[in-house]
Amino acid sequence: MSTTEQRVAIVTGGARGIGAATAQRLAEEGRAVAVLDLDEAACKETVEKITKAGGRALAVGADVSDAAQVEAAVARVAEELGPPTILVNNAGVLRDNLLFKMSEGDWDTVLGVHLKGAFLMTRAVQKHMLDAGFGRIVNLSSSSALGNRGQANYSAAKAGMQGLTKTLAIELGKFGVTANAVAPGFIATDMTAATAARVGMGFEDFQKAAASQIPVARVGTPEDVANTIAFLSGDAAGFVSGQVVYVAGGPLD
Ligand code: NAP
Repeated sequence: MSTTEQRVAIVTGGARGIGAATAQRLAEEGRAVAVLDLDEAACKETVEKITKAGGRALAVGADVSDAAQVEAAVARVAEELGPPTILVNNAGVLRDNLLFKMSEGDWDTVLGVHLKGAFLMTRAVQKHMLDAGFGRIVNLSSSSALGNRGQANYSAAKAGMQGLTKTLAIELGKFGVTANAVAPGFIATDMTAATAARVGMGFEDFQKAAASQIPVARVGTPEDVANTIAFLSGDAAGFVSGQVVYVAGGPLD
């Protein structure tokens, strides 16, 4: 790539939360950003923030768990923004329940969006990375990968993201592609607000309770995660691959 050529990033689940903050952060790094989410209209706000700040961005509607939609979305990004060489697999859903109440649908939905979604997106984007001899894959895992009550499906998916990441790092390293996982702890977004509602707590009280257990004594922000992703997806991180970085305000393992 010439030094004037702009790298193209895809951020899945980019309409809100961590994905929206990441899309904006990568645009600040000079990337052209495809903001991909289930509903294309929901991506408009993130896209407008980027374009108003002078960046290039594209709203793309697709379900990451659907192979045909993924292939079409990646082809559209390549056509309209340029070949994507940075991929952030961030799209996610929760279907929390204790094991005895967890339905097959709850299991399939969560594994489908997080794990199959990351597989399908990566498979579709890797050919562009190989052509460019450069790629950065960042997968969103979670502190829940270590186990969390009521999250058998989510925990399995997020542990799976770590195994997928390490394998991608091994297979794709020789082509100039790195793969890393970012595993956030408690981040204040709609997702954690929904969890507060599910357990019958106000979001403020829920955040205070979480912060009391975190060494840095606060909950995380989407920007905390976006900053870590910006480093791992940058040119300077070429010798960091197959790692899981916990962004949790304290040590986890
Ligand atoms: P969020 O606010 O709920 O945003 C997730 C986004 O993903 C939404 O815009 C959602 O669209 C989209 N999405 C869901 N299913 C999709 C699909 N099949 N195809 C494309 N897009 C889809 O979540 P967040 O808190 O920012 O979390 C982002 C990622 O970080 C997730 O992978 C999550 O598991 C992980 N994470 C979050 C935390 C936390 O504390 N917040 C902690 C650890 C890890 P809709 O709005 O249409 O559903």
